[in-house]
Amino acid sequence: MPVTTNPYNLETLSEYQYFLDFQVIQMLEISQKSFQKWGKTPLKKRMKFIKNLIFVLTKQQHLLAETCSMEMGKPIKQAIAEVKKCGLLCEYYLEHAESFLENKNIKTDAGESFVTYEPLGVILGVMPWNFPYWQVFRFAIPAIIAGNTVVVKHASNVAGCAALLEDIFKQAEFPEIVYQNLQISGEQVKNVIENPIIKGVSLTGSEKAGATVASTAASLIKKSVLELGGSNAFIVLKDADLDETIPVAVTARMQNTGQSCIAAKRFIVHKSLYNEFVSRFTEEVSKMKCGDPLDESTEIGTLARVDLAEDIEKQVDKSVEMGARIVTGGRRKDAFYEPTVLVDVTTGMPVFNEEVFGPVAPVMAFDTFEEAVELSNNSSFGLGVNIFTKDVEALKEKIHLFEEGAVFVNAMVKSDPALPFGGVKKSGFGRELAENGIKEFVNVKTVYIK
Ligand code: NAP
Repeated sequence: MPVTTNPYNLETLSEYQYFLDFQVIQMLEISQKSFQKWGKTPLKKRMKFIKNLIFVLTKQQHLLAETCSMEMGKPIKQAIAEVKKCGLLCEYYLEHAESFLENKNIKTDAGESFVTYEPLGVILGVMPWNFPYWQVFRFAIPAIIAGNTVVVKHASNVAGCAALLEDIFKQAEFPEIVYQNLQISGEQVKNVIENPIIKGVSLTGSEKAGATVASTAASLIKKSVLELGGSNAFIVLKDADLDETIPVAVTARMQNTGQSCIAAKRFIVHKSLYNEFVSRFTEEVSKMKCGDPLDESTEIGTLARVDLAEDIEKQVDKSVEMGARIVTGGRRKDAFYEPTVLVDVTTGMPVFNEEVFGPVAPVMAFDTFEEAVELSNNSSFGLGVNIFTKDVEALKEKIHLFEEGAVFVNAMVKSDPALPFGGVKKSGFGRELAENGIKEFVNVKTVYIK
C-alpha cells in the first residue's frame, strides 16, 4: 500500500490506495460529461469560478503550505510563497484570457477569414512533487479556462497535496467537475492515455517518465507537452558585479532545497573573479539555516525522500572520486543533504553532466566568452541560463548562441505567468504560461468564408 512519509522525521503521514481501473474509467466518463457542458460555458462565466478559486486558495493557504512542507520538506515560507504564486497565475489569466482566446481575424483573399480557439476535451496532467501546487496550477488553470476539463495523476509522495487540490476546486463551486485527482500509480497512466476520452497529456517530471508518456500519446496521435529536467548554467562574466550576483546565485541554486528544474546547477565564473566568487558564495551558502521545514526561519529543508538524498550523495561522491573538491557541505543524514559547494569540477563529472536535484553547487572557471558558451551548451538539457554582466547591450547580440528555452540576464531564471516557460533538447517541448500556454490544448480552427 503506498504511503506518504514526512522526510524530516521519517514518520508515516498516511496510507492510501490507488484507484482501481474501473473507478478510473468512471472518473474519466464524469470528466467527459462535464466537458460537454463546461466547454460550451461562455468564457466570462468560466472566469467567475477562477475568481472563487483564488478566494479558496487564499483561505486555505496555511493548510496547503503545511501539507506540502510535511510531505516533501519544503521550508514553510517557500510553501506559502508557492500557494500565493498560484493565485497570481489565476489573476494573470483573469486579465488576459479573453484577449488570448478571442477570434483572430486574418486578411486573406477570402471575404472573411479568422481563427478560433476551441477546447479539446479531457486533458491528463502527470505532475511532480517539487512544486506540488504551482506545477499543477500552471498546467490546469489555462487548460480549464480554455474550456477543457482535467484529470491529474500527481506524484505518489504528495498524495495529501493532490487531494487538497481537488478539494479546493470543489470548494470553488465550479458548475461542472472540471478537476479530478486520479490517485493512480505511474504504471496505470498508460491505460488512462489509451482511453479515447483523453485528448492530450501534459507531464512535468523526469526524462524517463516523459519519454514513456509521450511515446504512448504519440502512438495514439495525441498531443503531449513535456516539462522535464534542466541543468541551467549560471555564468558570471568578467565585468559582473559580485555584490549583486552572489545573493542571486545562492537563491538560484538553493531555493526549494535545490529541487527546482530551473535552478542554477552549474556555476561558470570568469577566472578573474573565480577565487572571490568561490569564497563569498561559500560563505553565504554555509550560513544558510537548515532545519525543520515547518519552522519559519528555515531556509534549507530536507530533500523530498531519503532515496533522492542518497542519489545526490552518489553524484557528489563520484565527482569527488573523479577529482572534485568539497569546499563546504557534502554530508547526508537521512533525507537531509547539506548545502554544498564543489570546486575543481570538470565536464565528465556527474555534478556537471547530470541533473543534480538538490543543494549542490559545482563551480568552474572560464577564460573566453566562447568557452563560457561552450560549457553552458555542453548539456543534454536546454531549459535556461542565467548570465551576469554590466554590458547588457553587448550580451544582447549573443543571446542566440545559447541553446535554451530561456535566457535571464542579471537575474535568476524564474517562471512568470506572463512569460512562456519550457525547454529545448531533453528539457522537453511545448510551453506553459502566457499566451503560448493557454493555446497548447486548443483546436486552432481556421475559418475561411469566400
Ligand atoms: P518523475 O519521477 O518523473 O515523476 C513525475 C510524475 O510522473 C509523477 O507523478 C510520477 O508518479 C509519474 N511517473 C513516473 N514514472 C512514470 C511512468 N513510467 N509513466 C507515467 N508516469 C510516471 O519526476 P519527479 O522526481 O517527481 O520530479 C523531478 C523531475 O521533474 C526533475 O527532473 C525536474 O527537473 C523535473 N521538473 C521539470 C519541470 C519543468 O517545468 N521543466 C518542473 C519541475 C520538475 P509517481 O510519483 O507515482 O512515480
